[in-house]
Amino acid sequence: MNIARTQGGWIEVICGGMFSGKSEELIRRIRRAQIAKQRVQVFKPVIDTRYAEVEIVSHSNMRIESEPVTTAIEILDRVQADTDVVGVDEGQFFDNKLIDVCNRLANHGRRVIVAGLDLDYLGQPFEPIPQLLAIAENITKTSAICVRCGHPANFSQRIVESADRVLLGALGLYEPRCRSCFIPGVAQIEETTAVEKA
Ligand SMILES: [Zn+2]
Repeated sequence: MNIARTQGGWIEVICGGMFSGKSEELIRRIRRAQIAKQRVQVFKPVIDTRYAEVEIVSHSNMRIESEPVTTAIEILDRVQADTDVVGVDEGQFFDNKLIDVCNRLANHGRRVIVAGLDLDYLGQPFEPIPQLLAIAENITKTSAICVRCGHPANFSQRIVESADRVLLGALGLYEPRCRSCFIPGVAQIEETTAVEKA
């Protein structure tokens, strides 16, 4: 990292379930920083090496330029001396070194904004997001709408059979659900099918 400043940094975390508008909120904050003539850099993890995407695209199709990185440490190497704001999307796909990386950036005067899933498909905390919540100055928890009952939804219900913690893509694989409607693990595909048959 090209260290330029030593003061004035902090960490913001935007977390919540799938379809809750995390990336949209990250993009909104980055855009406002750009309007304020601040220099921004946005990073996202390469989770599918076939596609080194250079954009972050929200479900509502807002998009912003981003740099794909394979590890959290790589972010430190890429941050420029004159960068004011560092955005990180899909924070849950980074290793726990992201905690140290965010601390170091904030300690050296950067405003760091991390967006990520706070819970996995089993409803368990999705590290390193819980640790980032602990060290952040500012936390925003976004919620979606439960597709079953219409209440605010914090959980991401997996609706296809798989025991992998990470499934690429979101649409058709997950749906937002509230605590009452959420079933940890693979969803009630059988139940849905039974209802449709009845
Ligand atoms: Zn519900």
